[in-house]
Amino acid sequence: MRFVNELMTSNCYVVFDDQTKGCVIIDPGSEKSEREIAFVNTNHLKLDYIVITHEHTDHNWGVNALMSEFPNAQLISSEICRQRAKKTNKMYFLLYYDDPDYRYVLNEPDIVIKDDMSHITWNNQNVTFIMTPGHSFGSMCIKIGDMLFTGDTIMPYKPYFNGRDSNLDDWETSVEKIGMMLPEDTIVYPGHGEKLSLSEWLEQYR
Ligand SMILES: [Zn+2]
Repeated sequence: MRFVNELMTSNCYVVFDDQTKGCVIIDPGSEKSEREIAFVNTNHLKLDYIVITHEHTDHNWGVNALMSEFPNAQLISSEICRQRAKKTNKMYFLLYYDDPDYRYVLNEPDIVIKDDMSHITWNNQNVTFIMTPGHSFGSMCIKIGDMLFTGDTIMPYKPYFNGRDSNLDDWETSVEKIGMMLPEDTIVYPGHGEKLSLSEWLEQYR
C-alpha cells in the first residue's frame, strides 16, 4: 500500500502480512500520518516497525504522530540518519507553515542500524538494511523479500543532490553495490514516483 505524503509528494509505504496482520511503515512523511493511522486501524494491523530511509523531513515528518498512536511500534534508522535528523531542514516548515520558528524533533530510534547489511527477522522473513550514502549521508535501502525500498537513492528520475549533504561519488558507489548485489527483477519502491524494476532503472536512468 502506498500513500503519497503531503507537501513534498514523497512516498510512504505500508507493508503488511495478511495472515499475521503485522505491518511495517516506511517513510511516513505527512505530519500527522492520518491516512496511515486510519489504514492500520481499519485493517486491524499491528504496527511492528517504522523505518526511515534517510534524514530528510519529507521522509519522516509523520514518525512522531505514528509513535504516539502506536507506542509499541519500534523506530528504525541508520546511525548517521539519527544524528543528522536533529538538524531538520527549515525549508519544509517554511513551505508548510511559513513559520521559520516551527520545530520538528524526530523521536530517537529504538533500533539504530550501524553496519551495512544488518538484518532483522520480521514475519519469518529477512529485512535487510543496505547502507547507501550519497543522496544524503544517512541514506539506506531496505530489502523485504523481493521488494527494495530505496528512499531518494534510486528514483525514476535523475538523482537529486543538494550539495550540502549529498556526495555524488558516494552515490555512485552505493548504486553500483545495489546493482551488483541484487537480482535485476528486484522491484524498486522509490521515495518519489512510481515503482519500477531494478533492470528498468539501470537501463533508463543509470
Ligand atoms: Zn531526500
